[in-house]
Amino acid sequence: MRFRTLVWRSLRLRCPLCGQGHLLRSWFRMHQDCPECGVRFEREPGFFLGSIYFNYGLTTLIVAVTYPILLFNGIANSQTLLFASLAFVLVFPLIFFPLARSLWLGHDQYWDPRTDVPERLP
Ligand SMILES: [Zn+2]
Repeated sequence: MRFRTLVWRSLRLRCPLCGQGHLLRSWFRMHQDCPECGVRFEREPGFFLGSIYFNYGLTTLIVAVTYPILLFNGIANSQTLLFASLAFVLVFPLIFFPLARSLWLGHDQYWDPRTDVPERLP
């Protein structure tokens, strides 16, 4: 499967295999299986721990880039930036949580494609 297709499906929070089924039941709860094609999202226990790489990595990258830019350009003082960064690292991962899982699913599908594709797929 093409990389672009998987990224697009991940960004839309869709099943990486069929591209139709929605991943989420609510913001913090996923469907166990794809509602459209029936594939199980969690391949094994602890599968989604890998999504922490996406979530933590992006959070850290944003703070590591914006903090010095804002500080050294005199846009904000260090005290303000410290509290803003603290608030950001607490809130952003919660907002990004579903997308991190979706990106992890797409990443997994790209590097380790499933061979047990359900028969309902065209
Ligand atoms: Zn599906």
